[in-house]
Amino acid sequence: MSYVRWSTKSDLYIYQSGEGETDETEHTCWSAQNVLLDGPHPEPFVCDGTEAMIEHVRAHIAQGDAVPKFVIPRLEAGQGFN
Ligand SMILES: [Zn+2]
Repeated sequence: MSYVRWSTKSDLYIYQSGEGETDETEHTCWSAQNVLLDGPHPEPFVCDGTEAMIEHVRAHIAQGDAVPKFVIPRLEAGQGFN
């Protein structure tokens, strides 16, 4: 299940990647900018828990990456798409 994919409006690809080591769901973020430009996370960012991923998305927004407005609400609601 993914929450956003790369597009002209999104630098991020975020998806639910597993159960995680805690009881929190694991999420993974691939950043197109960072892969191409060797930025802060050229490797995928993986975290357990929705809050951790939302915090990560906010950091992308703060550094000026393109992130559609629906991403955080979808993460909060646990409503991704296939
Ligand atoms: Zn990221």
